[in-house]
Amino acid sequence: MSKKHERIHVDETVLCKLCLSELGEIYADLELTSDELDLLDMPRRSFTVHFPARMDSGKTKMFVGHRVQYNDARGPSKGGIRFHPDLTIDHVKDLSFLMVLKCSVANIPFGGSKGGVVVNPKELSRNELEQVTRGYIRAIADYIGPFKDIPAPDVYTDEKIMVWILDEYERIKGMHVPAVVTGKPLELAGSRARSYSTSLGGIYVLEEALKKAGLSELPKGVAVQGFGNVGENAARILHEKGYKVIAVSDSKGGILSRAGLNIPGLMAHKAKTGSVADFPGAANITNEELLACDCDILVPAALADQLNEENARDVRAKIVLELANAPTTIGADEIFFEKKIMLIPDVLANAGGVVVSYFEWSQNLNSEYWEEDKVVRRLKNVMISAFNDVYGLCHEEKCRMRRAAYQIGVKRVLQAERLRGNL
Ligand code: NAD
Repeated sequence: MSKKHERIHVDETVLCKLCLSELGEIYADLELTSDELDLLDMPRRSFTVHFPARMDSGKTKMFVGHRVQYNDARGPSKGGIRFHPDLTIDHVKDLSFLMVLKCSVANIPFGGSKGGVVVNPKELSRNELEQVTRGYIRAIADYIGPFKDIPAPDVYTDEKIMVWILDEYERIKGMHVPAVVTGKPLELAGSRARSYSTSLGGIYVLEEALKKAGLSELPKGVAVQGFGNVGENAARILHEKGYKVIAVSDSKGGILSRAGLNIPGLMAHKAKTGSVADFPGAANITNEELLACDCDILVPAALADQLNEENARDVRAKIVLELANAPTTIGADEIFFEKKIMLIPDVLANAGGVVVSYFEWSQNLNSEYWEEDKVVRRLKNVMISAFNDVYGLCHEEKCRMRRAAYQIGVKRVLQAERLRGNL
């Protein structure tokens, strides 16, 4: 098993644990009735399929796939498809519930789902991967669709797999249905700005937070942990906007320059050497030093569980923007609240990706292609209004922002159920 493979699995187990333990308290705060609790406790549809796929050897092999459509009161279910050898229906169930919350907090008209195939894609040839994808879609085709449940990429699935999903579904239905899946390439009904939407969405939220907290005058020194898809795009966009990115790290180490890092130069250095470490003109630091460095804004964009009870008191930033999933433990979250450090939780801060998925679906349904500036403008509106909802409640209730976000997510789902007559 590769490192990355292990990491992703561990990350999301932590994420589910965190979210679900926090939810118990939120349900108590909201004084939910037993029928409301029952309704939230059970997915609407959860199923497992067994399907054949022809291997390169000519032999047919059976595979197991899952899909959970947790709740669709607010709109069709939305959630990724992952290929992973350890995938279980229970894990898919937890992840699908988190999608319900994320879509609800962002206030986009989707419910939440998740699914995937129990397989290690690294053990398959490209042709076998295609056969497995197409076999899975044939097995679940009756239960997905643009007005039912819309898949997207997730762990170990990508644009190319989304195209096979699209093609197989359209063959079955005998017509073009681009809105059945998101995360497609631009040439096949994908959306502009999708590749950096998670980072940009988080930065819109950050800028609103700076305004609200009266911190607009900060020198805005930023430290970013992680320099993959999310961290690198975040550092690039912040740099372009004039922020001073003073520290960055990846799995091989970190760097610091009080004068500010030249991010385009750093991206070229990483492309050449495979890491941000040893960047000329910057000092090498450890990841622990990065988390505790003297900065205004700290952006964890790598792994779960990075800020915990052991190191939270060392954090000197005034704002923590969670672009990674579950980078902060509940204990650390409480320490930040005590220290008046504003923590912008993952469920809000990294929702930009699913928001642009919503735009992709919407463009497909209307046979439109939006220019990049339209996607970006609309992303900004959605993210700022989601932030204001959460920030407003957080002030009213004098609670942590994560709790406010979960409360909003849960309340909106229950309200939709009530309006439908289910409560
Ligand atoms: P990625 O694999 O592209 O990048 C991860 C980065 O973290 C790499 O630079 C890696 O070197 C670094 N890293 C690994 N171990 C580290 C360590 N110990 N210290 C510092 N850095 C370390 O992943 P990504 O797509 O950028 O995702 C990052 C996080 O954001 C994950 O938690 C993911 O679940 C979350 N997220 C991603 C998206 C998205 O659109 N990609 C959306 C929502 C949430």
